[in-house]
Amino acid sequence: MHDERFDIVVVGGGHNGSTIAAYLAKCGLSVCVLEERSECGGGQENTEARPGFRIDPHATYLYGAAAPGFEQLELAKYGFRMVYYESMAGLATLDGVAANLGGRFNREVGLESLRRFTGTEPVDAEGIFMASMGDDGMRDLLRALFWTPPFPSDYEVEPKDAPWWKVFRQLLPQFWTDRLVDMSFIDFLDEFVPWEPLRAFEAFAAWYCGAHPSWDGMMLPSLGGTLLVGFGSGSPRGGMHTYAHAIIRSAIANGARIITNAQVGEIIVKDGRAVGVQLNDEASFPEKTIWANKAVISAVDVKQTFLKLVGKSHMDASFVQKVKDVSLKGGSLFVLSVICRELPKYHGNSDFFPDSVYPSCVAAPVDSMEFFHTQTRDAYSSKKAPELTPEHLTMMICTHDVYDRTRCPEGYHVLSPIYLEVPPPQYDVTGPEGINRHKDEITKAALELLKRLAPNMSGDNIVDVFLNTPYDSEFRNAGMSGGNWYGARQSEDQWFGSRPIPELGRYKTPIEGLYLCNHTSHPGGLCLMAVPYNLMHILIEDGIANPGNWWYPSPWYMPDTKAIKGASK
Ligand SMILES: Cc1cc2nc3c(=O)[nH]c(=O)nc-3n(C[C@H](O)[C@H](O)[C@H](O)COP(=O)(O)OP(=O)(O)OC[C@H]3O[C@@H](n4cnc5c(N)ncnc54)[C@H](O)[C@@H]3O)c2cc1C
Repeated sequence: MHDERFDIVVVGGGHNGSTIAAYLAKCGLSVCVLEERSECGGGQENTEARPGFRIDPHATYLYGAAAPGFEQLELAKYGFRMVYYESMAGLATLDGVAANLGGRFNREVGLESLRRFTGTEPVDAEGIFMASMGDDGMRDLLRALFWTPPFPSDYEVEPKDAPWWKVFRQLLPQFWTDRLVDMSFIDFLDEFVPWEPLRAFEAFAAWYCGAHPSWDGMMLPSLGGTLLVGFGSGSPRGGMHTYAHAIIRSAIANGARIITNAQVGEIIVKDGRAVGVQLNDEASFPEKTIWANKAVISAVDVKQTFLKLVGKSHMDASFVQKVKDVSLKGGSLFVLSVICRELPKYHGNSDFFPDSVYPSCVAAPVDSMEFFHTQTRDAYSSKKAPELTPEHLTMMICTHDVYDRTRCPEGYHVLSPIYLEVPPPQYDVTGPEGINRHKDEITKAALELLKRLAPNMSGDNIVDVFLNTPYDSEFRNAGMSGGNWYGARQSEDQWFGSRPIPELGRYKTPIEGLYLCNHTSHPGGLCLMAVPYNLMHILIEDGIANPGNWWYPSPWYMPDTKAIKGASK
C-alpha cells in the first residue's frame, strides 16, 4: 500500500462534488473524489428502466443555464449539448382548459392561448419580466440571486439593497416599488396575475423551484426559482446525466482522480483540522485512508456530514444541536414515469398542442389557488399521504422526448417525470414508510386523473409505468436525505442564505480545513454549479485555490477581509 495523499479530498461525486473537483483541478491542485455508488452524478441521473427508454428518477430540467461554470469549465468541449424547447409549459384544469404557455422561445403561442381562455388581453407578469429584461438581463438577475457568495457575517445589508433587488431596479425601473421587497410571491400573483389558473400554475411552479411562494419578503427569490427553468428553456440532450458526464470529463481532463464504490465512513480530524477521510471496509479501493494536504470538502448533505462523518468529540454540543434542529422538510417528490404511444391530448385540445410546440411540462389540474393551498397543507401541516381526490393531486407532467428523440424509440413517448408533492419521509406523521404504503393507490389515482384530463391516456396507449417515492430515492441515492431536492425552502432555518447555522454561513465549518459543497448549503438545490462557484471565492480567500485568468468572480462578491490570508486582523 502506498500513501494516498491529495491536496483536496471531496466526499461525494454528485454534481456539486464533481463540479468543485473540476474547478480545483483546473487550479492545478491534486484532487480526489470519493463516491459511494458505482457511478457519479448523484441526483443528475437517468435510467433505462426498459432498454432504450430514458426516464428521470430525480433531476429533469437544467436550472443552471446562467452558471459561469459552463464557460469556466468548458463543458461544451467535454460533450455538453443542450436541447431547447419551443414551448416550456402548459396547464390544464378539470373544467376543460388546456392552455399552452409557450416560453422564452415562443412567447406568442402563450399569449394567443391566454387570450383565448381569458377573453382579454393577457397579463403574464413573468413573461413580461422576461421579455423586458432580455437574455443578458435575466442572466445577471439570476447570477445576483444564486451565483453570489453569501456575504461575510459582519456585513449588514438592507433587504432592498440585496444584489438581486439592485439588479431588478436597474433592469426594470418601470416595475420597481418598495412594496415588492416585503411581498411573498403569492401576494405578487394576487396583485399582478388576474387569471386564476395561471396564478395557480405560477404558485406550483415556484413551489417546485425554490423559496416557497407563501414566504413573506421572498417574492423575488421565489420568482427567481421559476426563472431558472425559463432561462434554461430546455434540458441536456439525453437527459440530466449527460450534464453530469460533461462535468466529470472536465474534472478528469484537468487531472482529478475519481474513485467510485468508495463510501466514506469518517472525516478524519486531528487537532481541530480535517486531514483526510476513512473509507468503509466494503469500499472497493484498496487503501482505506486518504489524506488531504489542504482541505476536505463534504459534498454530501449537512446532516450526514456532522451527524455521521465527523466525530462528535470534534464539535461543540451546541453546534451539533443546531445541525439536528435544521429542518430539511419542505415537500418531497413522488415520481412517476409512463411510457405511452400517444402524447396526452388534454381535453382533446390539439390546435394549441401540435407536436412542434407541445409544452415540455404541463401542470394539471390547476383550476384554482385552492388546489395549491390544499397540497401545501397536505405536505407541510398534515404531513401524510394526500387524499386521492383531484384537488390534492396536481401533477407536473414532463415530456422531454418531444424535443429530444434520444429519450425513447420512434413510436413511443416517455412522460417522465410526473411529479407529485408529498411530505419527506422523516416528516411523515405515519412514519418514514408512510408514502410507500400508499404508493399503489397514489399511482392509480394519478393515472385516473391523467385519463380524466386527457382521455386518450388509457388502454393500449399506456405501455408501462415506473415510480420512485422519496423513500426509494433516499435509499437509491444516499446524498438525498428525505429523498429531497432541497430546492423548495419554506422558512429561515432551511434557507442557508439566512444563516440558520452561522458557523456554516460561508461553506466553512468549525473544523479547520473542512468545507461544504452540498445542496443543503446556500443557495442550495437546483441552481446548478452555484454552490461550487460560490465556494471557489471562499477557497481563494483562504489561500487554497489560485485560479488562472479563466476565472471571473461574482460582481457581488464581498470579501471577508479578516479571512484573506495576510490581511491585517
Ligand atoms: C425528485 C427530484 C427532482 C429534482 N429535479 C431537479 C431538476 O429538475 N433540476 C435540477 O437541477 N435539480 C433537480 N433536483 C435536485 C438535484 O438532483 C440536486 O440539487 C442535486 O442532485 C444535488 O447535488 P449534490 O451533488 O449536492 O448531491 P447529490 O446529487 O445527492 O450527490 C451526492 C453524492 O454523494 C454520494 N454520497 C453520499 N454519501 C456518501 C458517502 N458517505 N461517501 C461517498 N459518497 C457519498 C451519493 O451517492 C451521491 O452521488 C431534483 C432532485 C430530486 C430528488
